[in-house]
Amino acid sequence: GERNKPKAKLPTFLTFDHIGGQDRAKKELIEALDFLVKPEQIQKFGIRPLKGILLMGPPGTGKTLMAKAAAHYTDSVFVGASGSEFVEMYVGVGASRVRDMFKEARQKAIKENKQNAIIFIDEIDVVGGKRDGGQQKEYDQTLNQLLTEMDGLHTSETPRILIMAATNRKDMLDSALLRPGRFDRHIQVDLPDAKGRLSILELHARNKPLAEGVSLQKIADQTFGFSGAQLESLMNEAAIYAMREGRETIDESQLLQAIDKVMMGEKTDREAAA
Ligand code: ATP
Repeated sequence: GERNKPKAKLPTFLTFDHIGGQDRAKKELIEALDFLVKPEQIQKFGIRPLKGILLMGPPGTGKTLMAKAAAHYTDSVFVGASGSEFVEMYVGVGASRVRDMFKEARQKAIKENKQNAIIFIDEIDVVGGKRDGGQQKEYDQTLNQLLTEMDGLHTSETPRILIMAATNRKDMLDSALLRPGRFDRHIQVDLPDAKGRLSILELHARNKPLAEGVSLQKIADQTFGFSGAQLESLMNEAAIYAMREGRETIDESQLLQAIDKVMMGEKTDREAAA
């Protein structure tokens, strides 16, 4: 039923303040986005408009969060898709989905009366993998359609459309995608360092009753290699342990148990039951 649904992970809008760590990536992204919010400036200097930003980095590091925050920052409508959604058995279906996605972005912007739209494609490598001719006719058409749509974007057009894409394997991308005028801004989104881990843990502890004196710094120090998604999961698991044990608050011992659980990558009971 409705009540058992997991609580939505994301608020209806998301800002850069909801993203822990990633200071350099956030700064680079904001610098790039400023081109979009200051179109007069870029016209004055004759700067080529920004069409595509590629976010690169391991899974669960906040690339999707960044794209959503970018939409909020630039007052854009947000349309998201995953590369795998474009993979279909029949030739032409993927390409027509690409067309539909651009259409949807334009219609949504008009409906919501916005000047800008951001299209986010997660796992771009699925459609934008290196073309080796022959074998992948379907992928080729999909990728070609994406390139055609990108090439057809103009600053003078309303809404202005910015494409953001995420991948964890840039080396796999077809070079056509990386050419100037396409995805020519690349932003690396790495696993968080200890400081980043602390701020991610703090963000995800905000709605949870932590026992007094619990040191999230200690937890941050012990979670080398954890992604943001794993840290979110850790906080959630710790809360589940505390609740099951009938406690009022979450203390260090549940947090430590949760580290082990996330490290072992065990499925939660919830997932196992689903
Ligand atoms: P994937 O490549 O697997 O799609 P991603 O890099 O797009 O991963 P997100 O979907 O943005 O990762 O993150 C997944 C979840 O992990 C978020 O909804 C959030 O709860 C948590 N998370 C990840 N990174 C951060 C971060 N830097 N700050 C706060 N929460 C984070």
